[in-house]
Amino acid sequence: MKTNKKMLILAGDGIGPEVMTQVRRVVDWFDRRRAVKFDMQDGLVGGASYDKHGTPLTDNTLADAMAADAVLFGSVGGPQYDVLPFEKRPERGLLRLRKELGLFANLRPAMVFDALVDASSLKPEVVKGLNIMILRELTGGIYFGEPRGIEKLPDGQRRGINTQVYTTNEIRRIARVAFELAKKRQNRVCSVEKSNVMESGILWKEEVIHVHKTEFPKAELSHMYADNCAMQLVRNPKQFDVIVTDNLFGDILSDCAAMLTGSLGMLPSASLGDVDQQGQRRALYEPVHGSAPDIAGKNIANPIAQLLSFAMLLRYSFDLDEDARLVEAAVEKVLASGMRTADIMQPGAAKVSTVVMGDAILRELDKQAA
Ligand code: NAD
Repeated sequence: MKTNKKMLILAGDGIGPEVMTQVRRVVDWFDRRRAVKFDMQDGLVGGASYDKHGTPLTDNTLADAMAADAVLFGSVGGPQYDVLPFEKRPERGLLRLRKELGLFANLRPAMVFDALVDASSLKPEVVKGLNIMILRELTGGIYFGEPRGIEKLPDGQRRGINTQVYTTNEIRRIARVAFELAKKRQNRVCSVEKSNVMESGILWKEEVIHVHKTEFPKAELSHMYADNCAMQLVRNPKQFDVIVTDNLFGDILSDCAAMLTGSLGMLPSASLGDVDQQGQRRALYEPVHGSAPDIAGKNIANPIAQLLSFAMLLRYSFDLDEDARLVEAAVEKVLASGMRTADIMQPGAAKVSTVVMGDAILRELDKQAA
């Protein structure tokens, strides 16, 4: 029997609507061909919402997001909005969504498809088959800690202050997400901090150990200092399965890991919140890339990051691992056939448009499901 899953689609600005159109075709395919059925709703966000409503996120759209099982987000922003006051800027729409949905866990997979192994700046043998997950704490730590600010000192100098703070509960809840994620993978978690020089790092390590011992004793847990982790990511990234770390280190390490794969147009992400009273975890899925105004409207954007974000939605919000794998396998096959959008073009490959890439992925899904 089909169960309806409520999904809110916020395509946003720039290439967002173009790549989302291709994802919608895949969602329709799932509706027709698989056991899952979606109730889809569309909304405006970012500049598109500002143009219509004078705000980057209306209360109604926020309420729709709160009521949805999952939000599939495109991208926001564009040069025409750069002159707006801070609170009207497109990015505020996304930030408000993250805050109101309480999205504290940011999942950034770094996967290298065999066909794109040469796109990485690292040697093929170092990245071939790479599939790691960086889990970044998103709502705590030094970006939010108090006191913060810039103050004037009596001697005329100025002093800039930010504070790294983490509480027991903040650390435990992100650690739980890490161990849950690991269960569906190789069940290995590497916790990253700097407990050698930071008290908050000592607490981080102790609390992760506590969650491991009391709730997930079967998982393999290791610890690494953040500076060493940065080195290991470029030396031997395949040693990792799930990396869990704080907001600041996660910000840096997830970008570093992303670049192991070589292409922005291929990178999905997910942000998860707490489990609500109905047992549903709030979640928003989005590509790592932005609205790419330089190529918007040209039918050349790569839709794969957005599509892989939908695959994450299937896996993490709806527990549809097999369906998620179908999407990933279709992408893999199409890339292996030599089709490339301009951003991942290689000598000898066939350069295709956004829509033709969508066509090819649908054809591949048909083949796999035949
Ligand atoms: P960007 O990610 O939009 O683009 C960077 C470069 O990568 C550009 O050359 C672009 O053409 C290319 N690119 C990005 N995605 C691509 C895709 N799917 N296919 C092919 N090429 C792709 O970053 P930017 O240029 O720094 O920012 C542009 C706008 O996007 C800004 O307004 C920025 O604020 C916004 N932005 C939004 C988000 C978001 O919505 N989460 C994230 C980052 C930037």
